[in-house]
Amino acid sequence: MSKNLPRLIPTGTCWCGCGAETAIGSFFARGHDKTAEAAFLAIHHDASVAQMLHAHGYGPDDDKSVTKAAVDKGLWQECPRGCGYRGARESINNHVNRHHRDK
Ligand SMILES: [Zn+2]
Ligand SMILES: [Zn+2]
Repeated sequence: MSKNLPRLIPTGTCWCGCGAETAIGSFFARGHDKTAEAAFLAIHHDASVAQMLHAHGYGPDDDKSVTKAAVDKGLWQECPRGCGYRGARESINNHVNRHHRDK
């Protein structure tokens, strides 16, 4: 998916640092990816997703939209019904089923 990133291999120990064993092929014990994400945000971005986005050049304007950038990079898709919703392909499928079922 993303280019220029190293290939990471799950080690069997939770990557949040709690020391728990993980299932084969998993980086994290269940839910601990969120723990690690929250700790990272607290350290680097004052626990604020808005700060994180701003630090990477994203913002509320359309030309700085992080979701639009994801679509432009071909990682995410836009709702085929044109409602403006953006998401990963599975999210789009769920969204269409839930919100555009009768149309
Ligand atoms: Zn953990
Ligand atoms: Zn839609």
